[in-house]
Amino acid sequence: MAPPPPQAHFLIVTYPSQGHVTPARHLARRLVHAGARATVCVPFSAFRKLFPNSAADDGGEVVVDDGGGGVAYAAYSDGYDGGFDRAADDHTNYMAQVRSEGSRTVAAVLRRLAGGGRPVTCAVYTLLLPWVADVARRHGVAHAAVFWIQPTTALAAYFHYFRGHRHAVLAAAAGDGEVRLPLLPPLQVRDLPSFLAITSDDDPFAFVLPEFESLIDILDPKSGETRTYVLANTFDAMERDAIASLAPHIDVVAVGPVLSFLHDGDDEISSSHPNDLFDHDDGGDYLAWLDTKPARSVIYISFGSSSVMSKQQVAEIAAAMANTNKPFLWVIRKDNCDNEDVAAAIKKLITAAAMAVDGGGEGGMVVTWCDQARVLAHRSVGCFVTHCGWNSTVEAVACGVPVVAAPQYSDQGTNAWLVERMGVGVRAALGDGGGVVEAAELTRCVEAVMESEAVAASAAAWKAEARAAVAAGGKSERNLDEFVRRFMPK
Ligand code: UDP
Repeated sequence: MAPPPPQAHFLIVTYPSQGHVTPARHLARRLVHAGARATVCVPFSAFRKLFPNSAADDGGEVVVDDGGGGVAYAAYSDGYDGGFDRAADDHTNYMAQVRSEGSRTVAAVLRRLAGGGRPVTCAVYTLLLPWVADVARRHGVAHAAVFWIQPTTALAAYFHYFRGHRHAVLAAAAGDGEVRLPLLPPLQVRDLPSFLAITSDDDPFAFVLPEFESLIDILDPKSGETRTYVLANTFDAMERDAIASLAPHIDVVAVGPVLSFLHDGDDEISSSHPNDLFDHDDGGDYLAWLDTKPARSVIYISFGSSSVMSKQQVAEIAAAMANTNKPFLWVIRKDNCDNEDVAAAIKKLITAAAMAVDGGGEGGMVVTWCDQARVLAHRSVGCFVTHCGWNSTVEAVACGVPVVAAPQYSDQGTNAWLVERMGVGVRAALGDGGGVVEAAELTRCVEAVMESEAVAASAAAWKAEARAAVAAGGKSERNLDEFVRRFMPK
C-alpha cells in the first residue's frame, strides 16, 4: 500500500493559562478542519489538568477527538511541572525557566513527532514564547507563526511604541492625555495595553515590555530575515484600522473569531470542550437554572481565569445585583477566595444579594467555574459583566451579548475601548479610590446596556458579522485556508 501523502503539520505551543490554551485548542480544530494536522503543546501542569487520565508524562502524545477530528496534544516542561503559584513564584524567574527548560523539552517533542513520521512543518506560538521559533528552526522546521490572542489594536500599540512613538505614549501617560498612533483612532492612555505605561524597574510587570520588544523585533526584522506570520484572533470588520496600521510592517492574517462552537451548528453548542484547566462546578446545574429564566433577563458576571475580585469589588457587585433586581449567574473561582476570611465574607455578600433579588433566594446563582461559551449562548443571558479578557470579549461579540466592561490590566482596557466603539456595551468607571467599580456605577451600566435598543441592535449586528467571517466563504475562513495551503507539501 502506498504511504499516505505528507500533510502540513502545525505545532501550537502555549503557556499553561486558560486564556492561551482555549484559543490554541480552537485554532487547532480549525487547522484540522482545513486539512492540516495540528498538535497542541502545553506544559505538563496544564496537560495533567486537561487529560487527568493520560500517561503522557512518559513522553507519549495523546490524540483527542474533541470535535476537531483528531487534534493531538503533547506535553513539554516549562520548569514548573507542579504549576506556577502566583502568590509564591516570581514571573521573571518563570520567563527564564520556560525559555531554558522549554527549549530543551519542546525540542524533544519535535524529535518525537519527526521520528513518528509526523514532522512539524510550521511552529506556532501564543504570546511571548519567541524561543519556540529558534528551537523549531534548529530542528529543520522552516516556518513559524505567532498566534496573537489579544486584539490587533494592542499589537499595533506595542509595535508603534517600539518603532518611534514611545515618547508620545509616555507623555500621554504622564498627563493622562490622548495618543495618536499611525492609522489608529485617537486613544486615551486607559485604552492602551497597561504595560506601556510602566516606567519603573520595580513594577511587578516590568519584565513584560522587554519580552514584547523582542517579539516586535522578530515580527519586524531589521533586514534580510524571514518574516514571521501573525495569525490574529480577530476579524477584518472588527479591527480594520489596526490591521491597516500594521500592514506595511507585519503580515497580519485575521482568522477569527477562532471559536469552535461557531461551527457546531446554529446556536447549538455541543459540550465540545469539557477539558478546562479548572474543574467545572458541580454545585448545581446552572444551565438548567438558566432554562427557567426569561429571555435576556440574566446578568452573567465573570472576571476570567486569573483576574481576582477584591473583597470590596465583590461587595459592590453584590450591592449592584441587589439593586437591579435581576437574576444573576456569578463565577467566583476557588482561587479567588483561598483565604477563609475572604471566602466567608464573599459568601455572606452573595447570599444577601441573591436573597434580595426576587425576594426568595432563587435570584442569583454562584459557581466556581462554568462552560462560558454555553452560558453566553444561552437565550436567558442578557448582559455580561466582564474583566474584558480578549477571549471573553470575542465570545460575547460572537454570541451577541451586551457587555459591561470592568477592565483591570494588560490588553483589557483596549478590549473595553473596542466594546464601546462597536456599540456592544459600556465601560464602567472606576470609583475614586481607583481599582473598584462601585455599586451605583455598575447598576447604571447594567441597566444602560440591558435597556438600550441601540446596544441590542449593535450586538445582534456584530454577532452576524462575526459568524459571517468564519462561515464557509467568509473572510477569516478564506484567510485560514490560504494560510494552510502555503504549508501543504507540494
Ligand atoms: N471561562 C470559562 N468559564 C469560566 C470563566 C472563564 O470557560 O467560568 C473561559 C472563557 O470562556 C474564556 C477564558 O476562560 O475563554 C478566559 O479567557 P480571557 O481571555 O477572557 O481572560 P483571562 O482568563 O485570560 O484573563
